[in-house]
Amino acid sequence: MRLAYNTSKDFSAVIKPFVNGVSTDILGNIIAHKQGQGTRIMLIAHHDVVCLMVTYIDDNGFLYVKPSGGIDASLLPARKILIKHEDKLVAGVIGKKPAHFLRDEASSSKIVYEELWVDIGAKNRADATEMVTIGDYAYFSPDYEELSNDLIAGPFFDDNAGLEVLLALAEQLHEVNVPCDVYFVASNYEEIGMRGAIVAAQAIQPDVCICVDVTHATDYPTMNTVCFGDIKLGKGCVLAKGPNVFLSLFDTLRNIAINNDIPYQIEVSPYPTGTDANVIQLASRGIKTAVVSIPCRYMHTPYEVCSKKDIASAVSIIGDYLQS
Ligand SMILES: [Zn+2]
Repeated sequence: MRLAYNTSKDFSAVIKPFVNGVSTDILGNIIAHKQGQGTRIMLIAHHDVVCLMVTYIDDNGFLYVKPSGGIDASLLPARKILIKHEDKLVAGVIGKKPAHFLRDEASSSKIVYEELWVDIGAKNRADATEMVTIGDYAYFSPDYEELSNDLIAGPFFDDNAGLEVLLALAEQLHEVNVPCDVYFVASNYEEIGMRGAIVAAQAIQPDVCICVDVTHATDYPTMNTVCFGDIKLGKGCVLAKGPNVFLSLFDTLRNIAINNDIPYQIEVSPYPTGTDANVIQLASRGIKTAVVSIPCRYMHTPYEVCSKKDIASAVSIIGDYLQS
């Protein structure tokens, strides 16, 4: 993975050598354009990540936070986070009362944000406000591991995995004359209601859009595959089928996979997909939209797990589509 922490800045820098131009709009979308003739195709993955915001600093210098995007409060105690203050990163740990002091009822009670505190080592409020301020964003500490069988673990694969697909495609097509006009978009604010994608789709007005995001893998204990489908890591990227997807575009992508022996899986989405495709489909006079997803275990946690093989399968399918 080429992207780790400062996703949006890295995306611009990494994609720049492979395209004709890169621009940023008011919402913070990054739009890289590879000029060509014919169909206007937008590939989109989001660069915003789930994170926290500092909401309060108490007299003793402890910080309180709220989530921006869906983060389960119960996974936060005893975590390290990084608070972005101006251009600095301030380390903090989320406190947890030791087991010695917990009574049975307290140890099993539900964890809520109001009862979590962040310790940055400050002596008091004045000392804390020298380092951070209310409104600062805070992120999971980036700790990456290569697991066995081509699996990778760490935060932000939602949607750095999708951005990785876009970067690999831009690089692959750099010296190739594709029969289309391609926009590689890293959208902003997907996690809080797909806000960036709406604006990007209206501005670009593509003929076709392929949205690349993560989707839930269901191949681990406690998951019910009858309810949530059977999606496994390492078995290929996932093509969504349902009313949020233009059926013949789904068929085209699926046929590319079948004809080229590229592994793929199908996810049935009878409802809006919960990705940028949800709003892009409705932009302009309606846009032909598909969703290609990378399976992900433990989404929105500090250790999301994905497979490099699934990223490669998405690059192969979309790459063949762009060249056909
Ligand atoms: Zn996502």
